[in-house]
Amino acid sequence: MGGRIGVVGGGQLAWMLAAAARKLGIELHVQTPELSDPAARLATSVVRAPLADLEATRRLAEKATAISFENEWLDLETLAPLEQEGVVFLPRLQSLADLVCKRRQRLLLERLHLPSPRWFALEEILIPPAPAELKEPASSGAEPGDAGAEEPAPVLPPQPPPGFHFPLMAKAVRGGYDGRGTRVIHSQAELEALIEAVDPSLWMLEEFVAFERELALVACRDQFGAVQCYPLVETHQHDQICDWVLAPAAASQAVESRARNVAASLLAALNYEGVLAIEFFYGPSGLLINELAPRTHNSGHYTIEACATSQFAQQVRIVSGESLGDTSMQLAGTLMVNLLGFETSTAAYARQRQALEALESSHLHWYGKRLARPGRKLGHITLELQASGTVERAKEAALRLAEVRAIWPLPPAITP
Ligand code: ADP
Repeated sequence: MGGRIGVVGGGQLAWMLAAAARKLGIELHVQTPELSDPAARLATSVVRAPLADLEATRRLAEKATAISFENEWLDLETLAPLEQEGVVFLPRLQSLADLVCKRRQRLLLERLHLPSPRWFALEEILIPPAPAELKEPASSGAEPGDAGAEEPAPVLPPQPPPGFHFPLMAKAVRGGYDGRGTRVIHSQAELEALIEAVDPSLWMLEEFVAFERELALVACRDQFGAVQCYPLVETHQHDQICDWVLAPAAASQAVESRARNVAASLLAALNYEGVLAIEFFYGPSGLLINELAPRTHNSGHYTIEACATSQFAQQVRIVSGESLGDTSMQLAGTLMVNLLGFETSTAAYARQRQALEALESSHLHWYGKRLARPGRKLGHITLELQASGTVERAKEAALRLAEVRAIWPLPPAITP
């Protein structure tokens, strides 16, 4: 196919993008701080620098026709001059403006009348202390500040707005991932502790959703405006970190269509070019949008084995100016299980990896990270499923999950 693209970031997503680019015969250059970062092993070349280093991104741009990002916590104002100089970012910075902050994501969803959990900004409930009222000296004979002058009314501690009840979900508006930057707030005391601990202008709170299941959809739009979606999947989180993904989800045609319509509206409204993931809560009131991720996503890792064009190949195609590849599923189903660190260690886990590789119809992806930490994504395994009915598929997935768990345990939960 030919082409040269750049990626700011060198983690597992960039590693899988690099693998896809190799297969397509496209050069993929990365900007990442360490040569030991996963993507450095497969990239055509590495610009070794922190992700926010603008000069390094300029050097990356010299090697590529267009640049993409591995994560969305970007400083768009810093990047804007590069775009003005002619550097092509895909998705475009303009398309990313409403996605690089969770609060702006919610405002975008409200503007498009797309449903999401009710929320409020933490700073909204911080009532500034009322300015001390000036007293007329003649009325009491007391000067302001005199002992005996009327005390100002006590300032009430900040309360959730009417209609919101504990527990609430607190979220950092930027920089969160894998549950870092999310906290369940159970009580008034915990709310006050949060206000003490964080910069309130950078946090939001939302209703705690009693969802039945979490679903996700990876969608894509190319530079010619064509849109496609991968199948809707079910995601399961352990301690707010994705634990496994079942594809396809056991969802009605109506739910699947609704999710696809949401994706099409978002991609068109943002004039978006690239792969975009949408995380949903599903419950009695239907679908609520939890989060938008303007990039390849953990819920789409299964597409490497299951779909005609993986989400990584799709992103590479879009960024290098090709038209979309076929997103259709080629297998009856898959279960993708994340291999989350369960201890702090520099172990290579050779024994566990060998046992995982020996599982029938399985595909192990080991990211080669130097350090394991509880909850850190060290790799994933995709298991092919044979069953075609939703009930049978769920049973088969449960059995296969147990096979993985016998080799690779879950990390201990940190969240109370
Ligand atoms: P991150 O950006 O760290 O992935 P998310 O916003 O996706 O954070 O939240 C991580 C997980 O926390 C979700 O997948 C879900 O399981 C849980 N969660 C997030 N928001 C809520 C909420 N409002 N109500 C209930 N659970 C939630």
